[in-house]
Amino acid sequence: MTSCDDCGQEMLGSKSCTHKLLEFSEYQVRERNTTYFDVNDHCHDCGIENKPGNVHHFGCDMERCPICEGQLLSCECREKYEVIPLVTGEN
Ligand SMILES: [Zn+2]
Ligand SMILES: [Zn+2]
Ligand SMILES: [Zn+2]
Repeated sequence: MTSCDDCGQEMLGSKSCTHKLLEFSEYQVRERNTTYFDVNDHCHDCGIENKPGNVHHFGCDMERCPICEGQLLSCECREKYEVIPLVTGEN
C-alpha cells in the first residue's frame, strides 16, 4: 500500500487529503483545487472519495493547479510545491 507523504493516510481508502493548502512561495499560499475531474466514485489514481471539497493526495495526476487550472504535476507555476495543513481552528 502507498501512503501519502503529507497526511500519512493510506491513499486507497482515505476520503481526502487533509493538507488543503499549497504554498507557492513564502507569501503566496492558495487553497488546493478541490474540483474533481474523475468520473468514478473514487479517484482512479489516489483513491479519494469523489465529492466536492475533497483534496487529492499530492502527486495524483488528477489534481489541478489552483492558479492555472492545469494539471498540477505538469504545470509550471512553480518548480516545487509545498503542501501544508489547513489550520481550521476546529477540534
Ligand atoms: Zn494526503
Ligand atoms: Zn486523486
Ligand atoms: Zn499552474
